[in-house]
Amino acid sequence: MNTLLFKNADNDALSQCGELLRQGELVCFPTETVYGLGANALNAEAVSKIFKTKNRPADNPLIAHISDFDMIHQVALSIPDDMKELTDRFWPGPLTIVLPRKKDLPDIVSAGLDTVAVRCPDHPIATALIRAAGVPIVAPSANLSGRPSPTCLAHCQEDLTGKIAAIIDGGECSIGVESTVLLPLGDRKVKILRPGGITVDMLQDIGFDVEVDPAVLNPVKEGQKVSSPGMLHRHYAPKAPLTIVRGEFEQVCDTILKTMDEETWVLAFEEYLDRFPRAVSFGSKSDPLSQSQALFRALREFDRLPCNKIYAMEPAEDGMGLAVRNRLLRAASFQIIDAEDLK
Ligand code: AMP
Ligand code: MG
Repeated sequence: MNTLLFKNADNDALSQCGELLRQGELVCFPTETVYGLGANALNAEAVSKIFKTKNRPADNPLIAHISDFDMIHQVALSIPDDMKELTDRFWPGPLTIVLPRKKDLPDIVSAGLDTVAVRCPDHPIATALIRAAGVPIVAPSANLSGRPSPTCLAHCQEDLTGKIAAIIDGGECSIGVESTVLLPLGDRKVKILRPGGITVDMLQDIGFDVEVDPAVLNPVKEGQKVSSPGMLHRHYAPKAPLTIVRGEFEQVCDTILKTMDEETWVLAFEEYLDRFPRAVSFGSKSDPLSQSQALFRALREFDRLPCNKIYAMEPAEDGMGLAVRNRLLRAASFQIIDAEDLK
């Protein structure tokens, strides 16, 4: 298939892409989190192309993206008052809420669940595209399943050129990891199923009671029931095995330096980059947003390097750090080791 590339999201590009979406084709577009692979949420056949193209497991439901709050009624049955408070506060933005779904929404969107995840993205191209299509758009990250999510045009082209109808360039994504996914528990209580740009602190600051699902930071055991099917799947993995090295940063650097060989690379905070002969930047140690912007790009970079082992420095858990740590743990298949045990 010939994939159209739109370097500018002008009116002509948006109306062509809106039309392609209405016709049931797939269009890749930028959001503030990562690039999304979009399809008309109301067209089961179009949605099935997403699963085929990404090779996405059929039990992993999609997020419906809307351009205005009122569009929510095309996918969800209702929204509780406390969740309306959150959408008023954080939409448009990196917040996805799991709601009861409309019965006529195609089953494939929710992978057969009776809920649907909904988000209103904060990106002018995403919003304009959804408006041009005139329908809610399901949009998982625009990578092949298992690979790191794309945060710029080149990543989308790597995975999707020749497989979809069009790609719209929107430069670098400002957040760099996917949205926060929330399960409402009633009475201003929520459970975080996936951490992202709307953090625990931001929710607590406005009086919400926040629980973080244990699967955010721990591997799911075989047979364990999960709140979100996405937690079960292998994610973001570079080709070489990645291990997180825990400990005081000076000691981490010393022990990695002692043990690394010619084909070992390090995912290192900027402040320590020049300590290593082979390292890729993981943003600044004290700025988790810079880490979330750097992470997926770095993971893709390792696949281009002559690399058979990766060590990563350990991000903190607070603020945006929780989202960074969640993605890095998955990329590492939860391999984490104390610096003193590194041999
Ligand atoms: P992605 O489309 O790759 O950003 O992933 C969407 C995430 O949202 C996955 O982790 C899904 O498991 C989760 N998700 C989507 N819909 C639901 C739902 N109805 N209930 C719980 N989690 C959901
Ligand atoms: Mg994804």
